[in-house]
Amino acid sequence: MQTDSPSAVEHQTRPAVYVGVLVDVPLPGVFDYRWPFDTAPQVGESVVVPWGTKSVWAWVWEVRPSPAAGVDKARIRDVLSRIEQAPILEKRWRDLLEFASRYYHHPLGACVADALPRVMKHLGKDATAPAALRKWDKRQREGTGQASAASGAPAQEPILNSEQQAAVDALCRRDCFSVTLLHGVTGSGKTEVYLRAIAHHVGLGQQCLLLLPEINLTPQVEAYLTSRLPGLRIATLHSNLADGARATRWLAAQAGQLDLIIATRLGVFTPMPRLGLIVVDEEHDASYKQMEGLKYSARDLSIMLGRIHDAPVVLGSATPSLETWHRVKNEQYALLQLTQRAAAGAQLPSVELIDTRINRTQDGLTQAAMDAIRDVLAQGMQALVFLNRRGYAPALTCNACGWVADCKSCSAHMVWHRVDRQLRCHHCGHASRVPVRCPTCGNQDLSAFGRGTQRVEEALQQLFPKAGLLRIDADSTRGKTGAQDAFAAAHGDAVDILVGTQMVAKGHDFQRVKLVVALNVDASLFSHQPKAAERLFAQLMQVSGRAGRTGGAGRFLVQTGYPEHALFACLKKQDYEGFARHELSLRKEAGIPPFAFQALLRADHKKLDVAMAFLRDARDMAYEHIASMTVPDSEFINVCDPVALTVVRVAKVERAQLLVESSSRQLLQSLLTDWLAQLSAMRTPARWFVDVDPTEI
Ligand code: ADP
Ligand code: ZN
Ligand code: ZN
Repeated sequence: MQTDSPSAVEHQTRPAVYVGVLVDVPLPGVFDYRWPFDTAPQVGESVVVPWGTKSVWAWVWEVRPSPAAGVDKARIRDVLSRIEQAPILEKRWRDLLEFASRYYHHPLGACVADALPRVMKHLGKDATAPAALRKWDKRQREGTGQASAASGAPAQEPILNSEQQAAVDALCRRDCFSVTLLHGVTGSGKTEVYLRAIAHHVGLGQQCLLLLPEINLTPQVEAYLTSRLPGLRIATLHSNLADGARATRWLAAQAGQLDLIIATRLGVFTPMPRLGLIVVDEEHDASYKQMEGLKYSARDLSIMLGRIHDAPVVLGSATPSLETWHRVKNEQYALLQLTQRAAAGAQLPSVELIDTRINRTQDGLTQAAMDAIRDVLAQGMQALVFLNRRGYAPALTCNACGWVADCKSCSAHMVWHRVDRQLRCHHCGHASRVPVRCPTCGNQDLSAFGRGTQRVEEALQQLFPKAGLLRIDADSTRGKTGAQDAFAAAHGDAVDILVGTQMVAKGHDFQRVKLVVALNVDASLFSHQPKAAERLFAQLMQVSGRAGRTGGAGRFLVQTGYPEHALFACLKKQDYEGFARHELSLRKEAGIPPFAFQALLRADHKKLDVAMAFLRDARDMAYEHIASMTVPDSEFINVCDPVALTVVRVAKVERAQLLVESSSRQLLQSLLTDWLAQLSAMRTPARWFVDVDPTEI
C-alpha cells in the first residue's frame, strides 16, 4: 500500500536513496531501485517493484545513497509501493537466509521466497495484503496471540532418573551457543529431557524451537507438551497446514507471541527474536534434508541458527548420524548419554537373526517368524512387521514371455497396487489400469514379482484370520487425517498385527507391541549409497525400540541371508558405538564423509547425451579452477567423471551427475563459488543444479 506518495517538489531537494531488493527469481543478488518515498526504507520491509512488464513483491535488503557500481542510474526504476501490513524481516532471520544462500549456492531471492509462508510471497499487481496478513494484523492489535490453550488436567510429572536429571541440569546451564548430542537409547525418555529444558528456557523469557522429523509425530508431541506445560504458548508448523494458518503462526512467532514452535524441517526458518534453545529430535533422520529447491539440511541450518542467536543447540538420537558422532569424537560437540529405558519395567528387546538361507521364506515370512507372531497373539499382545522399503515394490510380470510393466516415462518398473487395481510409477506418479492380458504375447497369467507391503499383509491375514491387521505406509495413510486415524487405531485394542514401512519405526510409543519382525533388509547391506548401512542400522535400532516399551522384554527378529554381516553383530548387542566405530573406519579408508566434503552437480535433459556433454564441460572447467588454486599437500580436491543416475529417466527426462569431493570444506566452497558463477554464464539446454552435502549420490 502506498502510504507517502513522492512529491515532485521534495524530490529535487532530498538526497536520492537507492535500495537493493530481492525478488523471487532464479538469479543471484539484489536488484537496484530508486526509493521515491519521504520516509526512509527499512531493511527487511516488503515492497512492490516493477519487474519487466509486471509488478512483483520484493524485499528491501540493502539501503544505499547510490546504486551499486556499474548500474546505470538513468535506467533504475522506482519502487512502486510499500506493503505495510507485511512484517519487517528481522536481522537474524536475514542472516540465516544469507548463510543458506551462500552455503548451498542457491539464489538469495529464491531462498527467502521459499522460506516465507506462501501468502507472504504472494505476487500481485495491486499487492493487496492477503487475508491472513490482515487477520494477523487485527489480532496483533487486539493482543490475542496464537496460543493453543491446554484442555483437561495436566499430565503427571515423572520423577527423572539420574541420567535424565544430569542431562537436564547440563542443558539448563547452557546459556550461549554450543552443540550437545543427547544420545539416548530408544525409550530412554529424551522427550522428558527436552520438556524440562524447554520449560527452563521459557521461564527465562526465551523462545524455543523443537524440530521433529515426521509430520505424524507433531500431534503426539504437541499433546504431551501441552498437557504437561499448560501455560506455554505452543504452535506447530508443518507443510500440511493451510497457508493462512502457517502464516499466522509464523507471524506470531516473529512477534514473540509464541514460546515454543514444534515443527518439521521448514520450522528452521521461523523467525524467533528471543530464541534461546533449539532441539533437533532424531537428528540423523533423512527427512531433515530438503530435496527440492533450496536443498538444505534443517539439522545443519539449526546449528547455524544457534550460532546466530548465540543459543544452545541439542541434537537428540538413539543412533546419531555418523557426521554428528564424528564431531562428538573430535570434541566439537558435547555429549550427554541416556543408557537406560526410562519407564518402569521397560527393557530393550533381544535381537534374533533368522538365516533365510536355512529357513526358507513363504510369502516373505519364515516359519520362525510365523511362530513368533502366533505366540504374541496368543498372549493378547501386538506384533509389528517392519518392511524395509527398498526392493519391496511389486512389479507386474508375464509368466509366459517375461514381459514386465514399465513406466513409459521413466527407467523404472511400475508398481502394482492390488487394492485399487492400478499400476503406479513411484518416480513420476503416472498411473494406469492393470492389463487383463500381456501386451506382448496375450497371455493372461500375469503375476507379481517382488513382495509388496500388501502381499505380506494378505499372507498374514490368511495365516491369522482372526487377528486385527493394520497396514501403515504412504499408501494407506494418504489424505488429511489418514495417518492420524491409522496411528490412533494402532494404539487401540482392535489391532493385533501392524504392518508397515519406515513410518512405523519413528518415535511412536506403542504400548502393546511385544514382537517386531524385520523383513527384506538385505538390499540395504550392499547398496552403492554410502549412507545405506547407516540408515538400515538406525532403522533397525529404531524399530526394535517399538518392542517392549512397557512391562518385560520384547523380541526382535530379523530375517536375513547374511547373518554374519558386521552390522548385525552390533545390532545384536544394541551397540551403536561399535557400529559407528566400524562404519567410520570404512569411510575414513574410502575418504568419504565425514572425512571429506561433497557436492553434486546434477544435469537433466530429454537426451542423456546433452546432460553428459554439459557435465563433461563442467568437469573440465573445474579442473582448470583447481589447477589455479593453492591446495596444501595435506588436502585434496577432486572432480569425478559424470555418470548417469541409476534411475536415469524420470518423467521423460534423463538425469546425470558429477561428484566433487574435498578434504577441506573451504577448498570445496571456494571452488563452487567460482565454478558455478562460470557455469551460470554458460549456455546449455540442460537444466542443472548443485546439491551441497548430498545425502544420496
Ligand atoms: P525416547 O524419545 O528417548 O525414545 P520417550 O521420550 O518416548 O523416549 O520416553 C519413553 C517412555 O518413557 C514414555 O512413555 C515416557 O513417558 C516415559 N518416561 C520418560 N521419562 C520417565 C521417567 N523419568 N519415569 C518414568 N517414565 C518415563
Ligand atoms: Zn507375455
Ligand atoms: Zn514414471
